[in-house]
Amino acid sequence: MREQEWTIEHRKHGNEVYVVSSNEGIFVGEGYDKEERKRSRYLAGIIVEALNKAEEQDEKNKEGWTCIHCGESTYENDYEQLFSAVEHIQCGLIAERESKKKNKESLID
Ligand SMILES: [Zn+2]
Repeated sequence: MREQEWTIEHRKHGNEVYVVSSNEGIFVGEGYDKEERKRSRYLAGIIVEALNKAEEQDEKNKEGWTCIHCGESTYENDYEQLFSAVEHIQCGLIAERESKKKNKESLID
Protein backbone atom coordinates (compact mmCIF):
# COMPACT_ATOMS: atom_id res chain seq x y z
CA MET A 1 0.00 0.00 0.00
CA ARG A 2 1.16 3.49 -0.81
CA GLU A 3 1.89 5.57 2.27
CA GLN A 4 1.46 8.89 0.60
CA GLU A 5 -0.44 9.89 -2.48
CA TRP A 6 0.38 13.30 -3.90
CA THR A 7 -2.34 15.36 -5.55
CA ILE A 8 -2.80 18.88 -6.89
CA GLU A 9 -4.80 21.21 -4.72
CA HIS A 10 -6.12 24.65 -5.59
CA ARG A 11 -6.47 27.09 -2.75
CA LYS A 12 -7.84 30.61 -2.56
CA HIS A 13 -10.35 29.99 -5.35
CA GLY A 14 -7.70 28.53 -7.60
CA ASN A 15 -5.33 31.42 -7.16
CA GLU A 16 -2.72 29.32 -5.40
CA VAL A 17 -1.61 25.91 -6.57
CA TYR A 18 -0.25 23.37 -4.13
CA VAL A 19 0.97 19.81 -4.34
CA VAL A 20 -0.23 18.00 -1.25
CA SER A 21 0.04 14.65 0.49
CA SER A 22 -1.50 13.48 3.75
CA ASN A 23 1.12 15.31 5.80
CA GLU A 24 2.77 17.86 3.54
CA GLY A 25 1.84 20.74 1.29
CA ILE A 26 4.20 22.28 -1.23
CA PHE A 27 3.35 25.66 -2.66
CA VAL A 28 3.94 25.48 -6.41
CA GLY A 29 2.83 28.84 -7.71
CA GLU A 30 0.16 31.46 -8.02
CA GLY A 31 -2.67 31.52 -10.47
CA TYR A 32 -4.07 35.00 -10.36
CA ASP A 33 -3.96 35.41 -14.09
CA LYS A 34 -4.60 32.85 -16.79
CA GLU A 35 -1.02 32.34 -17.94
CA GLU A 36 0.27 32.11 -14.40
CA ARG A 37 -2.37 29.56 -13.49
CA LYS A 38 -1.60 27.47 -16.55
CA ARG A 39 2.10 27.48 -15.69
CA SER A 40 1.46 26.60 -12.04
CA ARG A 41 -0.82 23.72 -12.98
CA TYR A 42 1.69 22.45 -15.49
CA LEU A 43 4.45 22.45 -12.88
CA ALA A 44 2.17 20.90 -10.27
CA GLY A 45 1.33 18.08 -12.68
CA ILE A 46 4.99 17.28 -13.20
CA ILE A 47 5.76 17.47 -9.48
CA VAL A 48 2.83 15.22 -8.55
CA GLU A 49 3.87 12.61 -11.07
CA ALA A 50 7.52 12.70 -9.98
CA LEU A 51 6.68 12.49 -6.28
CA ASN A 52 4.24 9.61 -6.76
CA LYS A 53 6.83 7.76 -8.80
CA ALA A 54 9.46 8.36 -6.11
CA GLU A 55 7.03 7.18 -3.46
CA GLU A 56 6.38 4.00 -5.42
CA GLN A 57 10.11 3.40 -5.84
CA ASP A 58 10.56 3.89 -2.12
CA GLU A 59 7.94 1.21 -1.46
CA LYS A 60 9.74 -1.16 -3.82
CA ASN A 61 13.04 -0.49 -2.08
CA LYS A 62 11.44 -1.47 1.20
CA GLU A 63 10.49 -4.90 -0.10
CA GLY A 64 12.65 -7.56 1.46
CA TRP A 65 13.42 -5.32 4.44
CA THR A 66 11.21 -7.09 6.94
CA CYS A 67 12.34 -8.58 10.23
CA ILE A 68 11.82 -12.35 10.35
CA HIS A 69 11.03 -12.12 14.07
CA CYS A 70 8.71 -9.17 14.58
CA GLY A 71 7.53 -8.61 11.01
CA GLU A 72 8.30 -4.90 11.19
CA SER A 73 10.26 -3.08 8.50
CA THR A 74 14.01 -2.88 8.96
CA TYR A 75 14.30 -0.30 6.19
CA GLU A 76 14.47 2.73 8.49
CA ASN A 77 16.93 1.16 10.93
CA ASP A 78 20.63 1.93 11.03
CA TYR A 79 23.03 -0.89 10.21
CA GLU A 80 24.18 -0.89 13.84
CA GLN A 81 20.68 -2.02 14.80
CA LEU A 82 20.58 -4.91 12.34
CA PHE A 83 22.11 -8.36 12.05
CA SER A 84 20.96 -8.32 8.44
CA ALA A 85 18.30 -6.79 6.22
CA VAL A 86 15.79 -9.24 7.68
CA GLU A 87 16.78 -9.29 11.35
CA HIS A 88 16.81 -6.65 14.06
CA ILE A 89 19.63 -7.24 16.56
CA GLN A 90 17.15 -6.70 19.39
CA CYS A 91 14.73 -9.28 17.97
CA GLY A 92 17.52 -11.72 17.12
CA LEU A 93 18.82 -11.62 20.70
CA ILE A 94 15.36 -12.17 22.16
CA ALA A 95 14.80 -15.10 19.81
CA GLU A 96 18.18 -16.56 20.76
CA ARG A 97 17.40 -16.23 24.47
CA GLU A 98 14.02 -17.88 23.95
CA SER A 99 15.47 -20.80 22.05
CA LYS A 100 18.19 -21.32 24.69
CA LYS A 101 15.50 -21.34 27.37
CA LYS A 102 13.57 -23.93 25.41
CA ASN A 103 16.68 -26.05 24.95
CA LYS A 104 17.34 -25.98 28.69
CA GLU A 105 13.75 -26.93 29.43
CA SER A 106 13.91 -29.83 27.03
CA LEU A 107 17.14 -31.06 28.69
CA ILE A 108 15.39 -31.08 32.06
CA ASP A 109 12.55 -33.11 30.60
ZN1 LIG B 1 12.37 -7.26 14.58
